[in-house]
Amino acid sequence: MQVSTQQWQSIQNWLQNEVGQDNFDSWLQPLQPCEKTSSNGTLSLNVPTVFMKDWVVSHYSSLIQQGVLKETGEVIQIDFKVPSDEPAPKPKKPAPKPEPVAEAPAPAKNASAGTVDALYDGNPLDPRFTFENFVTGKSNEFAYAAAKRIAESNDIAYNPFFLYGGVGLGKTHLMHAIAWQVLENFPNRKVLYISAEKFLHNFIRAIKDKNTDGFKRTFRNVDVLMIDDVQFIAGKDATQEEFFHTFNELINEKKQIILTADKSPHEMQGIEDRLRSRLGWGLATEVHSPNVETRIAILQKKAIQLGVEISDDVAMFLADKIESNVRELEGALNRLAAHATLVNMEITIDTAAELLKDLFRVYNREVTLDEIQKKVAEHYSIKVSDMSSSRRSRNVARPRQIAMCLCKTLTQKSYPEIGRSFGGRDHTTVMHAVKTIEKMREEDPVINEDMTLLEKLLKSA
Ligand code: ADP
Ligand code: MG
Repeated sequence: MQVSTQQWQSIQNWLQNEVGQDNFDSWLQPLQPCEKTSSNGTLSLNVPTVFMKDWVVSHYSSLIQQGVLKETGEVIQIDFKVPSDEPAPKPKKPAPKPEPVAEAPAPAKNASAGTVDALYDGNPLDPRFTFENFVTGKSNEFAYAAAKRIAESNDIAYNPFFLYGGVGLGKTHLMHAIAWQVLENFPNRKVLYISAEKFLHNFIRAIKDKNTDGFKRTFRNVDVLMIDDVQFIAGKDATQEEFFHTFNELINEKKQIILTADKSPHEMQGIEDRLRSRLGWGLATEVHSPNVETRIAILQKKAIQLGVEISDDVAMFLADKIESNVRELEGALNRLAAHATLVNMEITIDTAAELLKDLFRVYNREVTLDEIQKKVAEHYSIKVSDMSSSRRSRNVARPRQIAMCLCKTLTQKSYPEIGRSFGGRDHTTVMHAVKTIEKMREEDPVINEDMTLLEKLLKSA
């Protein structure tokens, strides 16, 4: 099918609204309907590069279909085409030696991250994220010590330094702390802190502007390169390729690289083996969830910073209720502090319980066996009735086992009770399911991810 220029314009406007300006500029704005008419049920769109094509296909094709449907009332296939004269975007060989420093854009002296190259800037550093403001405990003392060592030493101790762990556990905080400390101890070192997301956007922009050299130069001209949340790069092949080359060169030139991610290099999915193994060359350290003592210490320190007083009782109460991560702990404290300042009242356990009851309800509420069965069935696209049926085919049996396992871990129900709710199965069947899934979870990252996701969905239901 063919869309008119005017129709395409309104489809584009709609898409822009849906995905936001940045994404639109990077990915959708460059798309152009092909001149040649394509067969009836398809619309052909030109995409500038192979890399963009892959990304757009996997992320936006259904949205574009939706846009076309809204505008023309037609349900169509979309065929993306890269004009054949376009050079392949992937660097085939290791990138050339970096240009002499003299040719590089002049960096602003001793400025914080993000000023190395005005064209491809980083993200600002948070002034609160310093070593002094970081509370240590069993869960993070190793990561803290390693971070300090990097920030203070003249030579390169570990390269790369790879910090990983769940959300809100202080990875970004530690990374910024290193940056601040390096800038203080070594004012001439150039530090660039950038989120992996921004790294990716910059890379796309460089391809579009045909300025990949400038892009490379930016990163090769820094002494310390920090990329936050690199799991974002996983699965984006051309970026990985570029990242890999930049990474290798920086390491060869003895520049410090610091990365964070939600998982260890070993567990990260969607990254090439050679990149994975290279990521693990330096020091990979996990930050764990803080134990209750550390959570109390964090609360007390933050309370002082906020200028509010909280008693040990209240700190203990909060630390006991909120185990998940430091960000949420901080959020709860901020709410209490705001209230206390507003009404000029002391914070007691009772006021805390009252003010945060919506938050605690989330943590306290137990999910039901029915909810678990329903959610798991939905996730694997099987019928809820199959949870109780006697069908034994694998595509039904495995999700059923997963549901049983979740019932055991997320509720207080006994094995026999769980068995009964799965069509009157024996308690030994449930025990077997729990064992099997727990074992599989250790061995099969896909199952593990599914379980983690389901747990999260069910807990926040
Ligand atoms: P992550 O990057 O791991 O998701 P952040 O570094 O953004 O987590 O931390 C979330 C919030 O919790 C930040 O405000 C940070 O200052 C705070 N935080 C995390 N760990 C600690 C700690 N050990 N001491 C003090 N504050 C912490
Ligand atoms: Mg972070």
